[in-house]
Amino acid sequence: MSVLAHDVPEPFVTALRAAAPDLDIRTSVGPDPEAVRSVLIWLAVPDFLETLPNLSLVLSLGAGVERLMVPRLVPDGVHIGRISSAVQAEGMSDYVLLHVLRQHRRLSQLQDEQARGEWRWRLWPRAGDVAVGVMGLGALGADAARKLAMVGFRTRGWSRTRKSIKGVACHSGANGLAAFLADLHHLVCLLPLTPATTDILNADLFAQLAPGAFLINAGRGGHLVEADLLPALNAGHLEGVTLDVLRQEPPPADHPFFADPRILLTPHSAVCATPGQLAPDAAEACRRAERGAPPPCPVDRERGY
Ligand code: NDP
Repeated sequence: MSVLAHDVPEPFVTALRAAAPDLDIRTSVGPDPEAVRSVLIWLAVPDFLETLPNLSLVLSLGAGVERLMVPRLVPDGVHIGRISSAVQAEGMSDYVLLHVLRQHRRLSQLQDEQARGEWRWRLWPRAGDVAVGVMGLGALGADAARKLAMVGFRTRGWSRTRKSIKGVACHSGANGLAAFLADLHHLVCLLPLTPATTDILNADLFAQLAPGAFLINAGRGGHLVEADLLPALNAGHLEGVTLDVLRQEPPPADHPFFADPRILLTPHSAVCATPGQLAPDAAEACRRAERGAPPPCPVDRERGY
């Protein structure tokens, strides 16, 4: 049986071959579609999955699987999986800590003052007086929330189902959202993109945060109503924003966020895992698919993530 690495960057194919010499890895369907057991996808989702009669697994090499949630794109009965590794969680937590601390200590203001030749002493709030909230307490969000709490921030988390994380005040469900958001100084979005979470970062939500709050979105661009962002900054509901993801990537050169000093854009690079770091997890999922077993990190079609 074979693994089809469809439209997957060549370095990943090489890393996968090195990590899994036991697997037959091909980059096109070839003359025997019945041999394909797993399909790996990167950005593009093939439209020929139903022509592979023995397909057991479609594995996303990225953590976000919204592209696969199109009805009937992946045939019924075929497992959907994604890669979720400690390397990704570690990278995302680095990113979250960096940007919360950067915002907390007003680094961009200090740089502006330095550029103007100013030397202004100021008093910082204690981390313990600052409320930070993480939306999404999955593989990435739980690790980030735990580490924010260890730094000393008053940390809250929000998920669909209730969680228990040491040092983190956990809220859940639509009914728990208002209490989670109330007077937060920093909001971090690490949600998957689903119908329930699309457009969740909007004007109504910003108004529930502490005045002059900071936002970090490293989930997906579709979480943010981009048209609501500049008005929220101008009204003082938000003081600064870090965005790793946008609705259109790459954004057009004249996108208004590029020119706004209150917004820091990072080019979808919060997590930078190398092919060699991800290949062993992909190989394990494909080996399980050979015997028809679900992948280690399955995606639930009903939940959409
Ligand atoms: P997980 O599936 O492990 O966790 C998702 C979390 O979101 C869970 O806690 C889940 O709740 C919660 N959630 C889902 N829907 C809702 C909802 N309607 N209301 C409240 N909570 C909800 O995902 P990961 O942590 O691995 O990744 C999260 C997202 O981060 C990815 O989907 C992707 O979009 C993004 N990402 C971004 C990267 C980047 O480089 N910028 C890199 C990797 C991922 P519950 O626990 O109850 O199921």
